[in-house]
Amino acid sequence: MSDAATAPEPGTVYLVGSGPGDPELLTVKAKRLLERADVVLHDRLPGPEILEGLSAERCEDVGKRGGGERTPQPEINERLVELAREGNSIVRLKGGDSFVFGRGGEEAEYLADHGVPFEIVPGVTSATAAPAVAGIPVTHREHTSSISIVTGHEDPTKPESAVDWEALADVGGTIVVLMGVKRLPDYTDALLEAGAAPETPVALVERATWSNQQVATGTLETIVDARDEVGINPPAVTVIGEVAATRANVLEFLANETASEATATDGEV
Ligand code: SAH
Repeated sequence: MSDAATAPEPGTVYLVGSGPGDPELLTVKAKRLLERADVVLHDRLPGPEILEGLSAERCEDVGKRGGGERTPQPEINERLVELAREGNSIVRLKGGDSFVFGRGGEEAEYLADHGVPFEIVPGVTSATAAPAVAGIPVTHREHTSSISIVTGHEDPTKPESAVDWEALADVGGTIVVLMGVKRLPDYTDALLEAGAAPETPVALVERATWSNQQVATGTLETIVDARDEVGINPPAVTVIGEVAATRANVLEFLANETASEATATDGEV
């Protein structure tokens, strides 16, 4: 008999978004799949509570390696195919939604190219959930009817930057920046230079729904100081726009507000 005849049917890969970190924000489907997976391939973003609660016999951390480097994407892709061809049921678990700055699309394409069956299980993205748990609606009838979700990872001064901050300043509305803690000064400057109002409200929400969630608020002009004062580190979401100021209207009654708060403005924002 040839190898092909004895090889097991390939297992299914489930591309699962974990939500922002609170295990109760896993979808019912994600929870069920995690409970019965043979292998869970995860990075760090799902957060400590979800990762510590994993019951799968085999978990593989592909988020960080020895020197703190991420496992290169091609290696993750190959590992998924290899495990599937051994007949395993695999959950590929990523923070938020796998298809929002999660490279889930690339993994899906690779699996399709290699004839491995897969299913996409959407998650609650931090792009909307992190502002929400901090009391910030990304849309609000009185303030904005559009939301742009962009990466803050790139250098806005480089011509090859894929994010057009000038255009975003024109569009207005709510801008949600992922991966944008380090380059906060660069893109707030870029928006100001493009004509955005200096008093535009901004909020940073770090580790949303984790036990050590932190929030900093300010304006396009003051948020960098607020970031440093609170000590905001990745992972954090930046919300830019009038909606960021509406947090003040609900803060007193926000039961899930665990954050230490500092603003670098004179009054409440
Ligand atoms: N797929 C993810 C995003 C991955 S990019 C999603 O849909 O949420 C990584 C970025 O996501 C981080 O730099 C941060 O901007 C954001 N992020 C993810 N989880 C977060 C959380 N719990 N709190 C705040 N930001 C988070």
